[in-house]
Amino acid sequence: MRHIIHRGKDEIGGMCIEVAADDGTRVLLDLGMPLTTPDGDEFPWGTPQRPTEELIAEGVLRDIPGVYPHDPTAPGVAAIILSHSHLDHYGLAHHAHPDIPVYGSDGTIGILEVGRVFSPDARLPATLRRFSEQRVDDGAEANDSDGASGGDGASGGDGASDAAGVADGGDTQKASEPRAAEPGPARDEVMRFGGMTVTVLPVDHSAPDSRALLVEADGQRLLYTGDLRAHGRTGFRFERLIADERVHGVDWLLHEGTTLGSSGGTHGLRTEDEVEERLVELARSEPEKLLAVATSGQNLDRLVSCFRAAKRSGRQLVVDVYQAYVLRKLAPLSPSIPQFTWDEVRVSFPPHQVEKFKDAGKMGIVYEMGAKAWVGSDELAAHPGRFLMSMRGSGKTTRLLDKVGRDRVTLVWSLWSGYWKRDRCAMREWAEGRAGSAASGKAASGVPVGEEGSGGNGADVEPVETHFIHSGGHAWPEDLERLTDAIGAKEVVPVHTDCVDPDRLENPADQLEDLRDQREELTPGQESRTT
Ligand SMILES: [Zn+2]
Repeated sequence: MRHIIHRGKDEIGGMCIEVAADDGTRVLLDLGMPLTTPDGDEFPWGTPQRPTEELIAEGVLRDIPGVYPHDPTAPGVAAIILSHSHLDHYGLAHHAHPDIPVYGSDGTIGILEVGRVFSPDARLPATLRRFSEQRVDDGAEANDSDGASGGDGASGGDGASDAAGVADGGDTQKASEPRAAEPGPARDEVMRFGGMTVTVLPVDHSAPDSRALLVEADGQRLLYTGDLRAHGRTGFRFERLIADERVHGVDWLLHEGTTLGSSGGTHGLRTEDEVEERLVELARSEPEKLLAVATSGQNLDRLVSCFRAAKRSGRQLVVDVYQAYVLRKLAPLSPSIPQFTWDEVRVSFPPHQVEKFKDAGKMGIVYEMGAKAWVGSDELAAHPGRFLMSMRGSGKTTRLLDKVGRDRVTLVWSLWSGYWKRDRCAMREWAEGRAGSAASGKAASGVPVGEEGSGGNGADVEPVETHFIHSGGHAWPEDLERLTDAIGAKEVVPVHTDCVDPDRLENPADQLEDLRDQREELTPGQESRTT
C-alpha cells in the first residue's frame, strides 16, 4: 500500500491524500479547497465553481491521474471519502469524474445538502453517498468492490438523487431507498474497495459527525485523523479513538496539526463546556439584555452550548431559519440536538433567508417552523432579557439589533477572531458604532474601517462592548502528543499544519508552554478559520 499527500501537508486547507493498494485500487481521502493562495491572499468568491482545467492550470486543484472528467483514464479511483463537511476538506470534490462516488457521514451529507438551499450556485459531487450505502458486513461478500472501475454501480449512477432524498431529514420519507441504512447516531462503518478496506471512526470536531479514516490493504494500515480535538461535546470520541486497538501500531499516522503552527495559541477558551459557562455568566449578569451570539450555523457543538446556556439562564434560544434547518437536518444524529419543535426554541425569519427557501421550493418547512416557533422583532425588542439569540455575523443581522436597541444588547463574537478583524466585518462596524443600521459594509463616517486603534475615531454612536467567547475545533498540542503516544505508529506525518519546525512537529507538547502564555495574553475567541 502506498500513499501520496497531494495537498495539505504544509498548509492548513486543501486536504487531499491518495491511498493505493497493490492491486491498483485507489481512493482519495478528502478533496478540499485551499484556504489561501500561495501569497496568503483569499481566493475570489466562486473560485471552487470555476472550470476544472483552469483550476488545475493555476494549481488550485492538484492534477491527479484518473480523477477528472477530461482525463481518458478516469474514473481511475474507486471513491473519494470525506472526513467532514468543512470546505477545506470537501470543497473541490465536485470536480471529480461523475462516476467516482463521494462518500460522507450522515452529518457531512446533511450539511452539504443544506448548501442546495442556501448556496444553490455551489456545486456538489454528482454521486454523493452515505458511508452506510457501501457498508460491507463481516462475512458478507465484497460484492460491491470492483476496485478502480469506480465503485459499486448498484444504484445506477443516481446516487445523488437518492442521497438528496434521504438527507432531506424527513421532509418526505421515501418508500424505497436503496441499501442505505437510516441516518442515525455516529457509528463505525466499514467499506471495501477492491483489496482495500476503509473504516470510518467518529471523532470530535466542530463539524458534526466528523470521521477519522483507517485504510487497510496488503497487510498494512494507514490512519488519517481528519480534523479532530478532545475538548468538544463529544470529546469521549477522542479517548475512544486512542484506546482503539485497531489503530494501535499503524504503519502510518497522518494527524492534523493545526495548533502546532503560527495560529497555535490563538484558540480561545479551553473547552466547549467553558464556552457554555461563560455564556451562562453573561446571560445572568445582564438579565435585562438580549444575549446576541454571532456564531457559525454549522457548528453543532456551539448551537448546543447556546441552547444549554439559554436554558440554564431561564431564556429561550432564538435561532434563525437557516440554523433551524441545519438542526433539523442533523436531528437523526441525536435526540438531544435542539429542534424548533421544542418549547425552549424560537425561530426568527430574516427575509433574505426566507427568499432562499422560496427559490428552492421549500416553503413548506418554513411555514411549519413559523406556526410552531416564530418570534418577531417586536417581541425581541419588547422582552430582550427573555432570549439568547444565536445569529449570523453578517450585516443583515445588525438591523434587528438596532431595533432591540444598542443599549439592550449583550454582544458575543463566537467565531474565529480573524473574521472579526477583517475589513468590512459588518458586526464589528456595528459594535464600534460606525455602520449604524445601514448594514452596508461601509463605514458611515467614511473612515476606512480596517484600521487599528479606530475606537472612537469618527464613531457615529456609542460603541457596544463585544465579548469574545469561543473554543477551537482542533486538538491542543498536549492532546496531539497523547494521540501519537497512544497510537504508536511506525511513521507519524503531521498534516493540516503550517508549522515548519521539525522538532515541534515531533514533540507537540513542547509547544504547550508557549500556548499557555499566548492564551493568557490573547483576547479569548481567536480561532482557526477552518473550524
Ligand atoms: Zn475541519
